[in-house]
Amino acid sequence: MEEWKIQPRGEACSACRRPFEPKEICHTVLADRAGQLLREDLCETCWLAQGGADVRARVGVISTWQGAYEPPAPPPPDPLPRQDAESILRRMMARELPEEAEARYILAVMLERKRVFRHRETRGGEPPLLVYEHAATGEAFLIPDPRLRLDQIAAVQQRVAAMLTGGDPAPPEPTVAST
Ligand SMILES: [Zn+2]
Repeated sequence: MEEWKIQPRGEACSACRRPFEPKEICHTVLADRAGQLLREDLCETCWLAQGGADVRARVGVISTWQGAYEPPAPPPPDPLPRQDAESILRRMMARELPEEAEARYILAVMLERKRVFRHRETRGGEPPLLVYEHAATGEAFLIPDPRLRLDQIAAVQQRVAAMLTGGDPAPPEPTVAST
C-alpha cells in the first residue's frame, strides 16, 4: 500500500461548494479511489442527499466522521524547525520512508494521548489503518499500525524519545550489517 498524505480539511462543501460557517456540522468522507486517497467534506444537506450514513457502505470508503467546522488556525509564528512530536511526525509524513513506519505509529499514539489527535477509527486490514483527525486543524492522518511486539515498542520509543530531546531525527540505520 502506498503511504497516505495528510489530508487537509476543506473550507467549503465538496459537493455544493458553499463555504462552511464556524461551528457548522460537516461530514468528512475518506475514500480510496484507485490507490489515491480522496477526502470530501460535506455540509449536512449534501451528506443527507448522498444517503447519510449509507455513504459508509460505498466502495472504497475508508472512514467517515462528523465534526464542527473550525476556521483554519493561522500558521504558527515560529519558523524554526521544532522537535516536538507533531513537527517530527509531519516531517516523517512528508518523507514517506518505509523504515520510519514504526516511529510514525508511536508518534501518532503519543499525539492521541496528548489530545492533539482524535482517534476516529481503526480499519481492519493488513496492516490495520488508524484514522486520526488533528483536533485543531481538522487534517486527517492515516497511520498504518505496524503491530509492534512489546519488546519492539520499547526500542522504537527510545528512538522517538531521542528525537524529542533534540537528537538526530534521521531515519534509523539499516539493520543488515554492511561489509
Ligand atoms: Zn453542500
